[in-house]
Amino acid sequence: MATERTFSIIKPDATARNLTGAVNSMIEQSGLRIVAQRRVRITREQAETFYSVHRERPFFGELVQFMTSGPVVVQVLQGDGAITKYREIMGATDPAKAANGTIRKTFARSMGENSVHGSDSAENAAAEIAQFFSGNDIVG
Ligand code: GDP
Repeated sequence: MATERTFSIIKPDATARNLTGAVNSMIEQSGLRIVAQRRVRITREQAETFYSVHRERPFFGELVQFMTSGPVVVQVLQGDGAITKYREIMGATDPAKAANGTIRKTFARSMGENSVHGSDSAENAAAEIAQFFSGNDIVG
């Protein structure tokens, strides 16, 4: 399998509960490597751009409000098949449907406050990484 990079966000519900290290531990135990990481408070404009694909969805306002409600940790993860692998260890969007042992099953509070984001395609991973990191920030 090819080495890939994917974009991750540890969301405000997780940073509020001091779970950054616990999430990072699950990431690293899966074999993925954290090759860039920064704790930031994202702006409304950044959140709206990041989630623009969901602009017409009924939960869009709630999603932007949530993602700007506290600090997040933006990350680049690297490894074999990183995009699919991270989606697997994150678990389903709805924590009630997520498999045992996944990050969302373990930590998420609800469909909205679901602790982590991970890119869902190579194209989106590249665009999402570029929104928050430049080449020099990523050390593989
Ligand atoms: P993901 O790729 O698993 O993160 O899921 P989606 O791309 O479908 O949705 C993006 C994010 O929007 C999710 O991770 C949730 O934080 C949020 N979201 C999705 N569905 C809902 C919903 O019904 N209500 C709320 N409040 N947020 C939602």
